[in-house]
Amino acid sequence: MPKYSRDEFPVNSIVYERTCPFCNQAFWANKPRAIYCSAKCRVYGNKKTRELQQTVIDAYAKDPAEAELRYGPVLIEKGNLVQLLYYNPIEEELRALDPDGTFALEHITMKQVQPLEKVIAYHTLHMKHNRFYYKCMRRILEEDQAQGTTKLTAKQRIYLEKEQKRIDGKIMELHVQLQRLHNSDESKVNW
Ligand SMILES: [Zn+2]
Repeated sequence: MPKYSRDEFPVNSIVYERTCPFCNQAFWANKPRAIYCSAKCRVYGNKKTRELQQTVIDAYAKDPAEAELRYGPVLIEKGNLVQLLYYNPIEEELRALDPDGTFALEHITMKQVQPLEKVIAYHTLHMKHNRFYYKCMRRILEEDQAQGTTKLTAKQRIYLEKEQKRIDGKIMELHVQLQRLHNSDESKVNW
């Protein structure tokens, strides 16, 4: 049963004041992780969250730029999986250069060897794409910290921090690769 008064708990017990995100009722809980005021609100609330999440996923699948305008970058959680939905403007440039995602494979297997200049353009775009993604994650973490009360769950924060490290590594690799390419010539197949 929901407890709507502090008095329903023993005087010395530690309790937490919350507002139920489903019914907007203020309540008291003895568990720090309590979100909803009651089991009923939890069921309806979780259902609403899932529906909302699907709406956002669908919107991002249809038109990422439009979806981000409406929802902002969104972290979605499905079971153990966390994913960041956001709009990356470099995506379109990448698609123009590599429309069906076969650029790398066909070049490396020498099915369609690309000129050095295009290989450099390809890696430069990937670099920009990763940098944009990295900045987006950093902004989310910084904004969350600036507000004092975190809206991110521990899982989401850990995900963003790990993902930042991973992307940082990728950016470093691309940097080295690009330096090598800039010192290269057309006499062989470069990658
Ligand atoms: Zn409620």
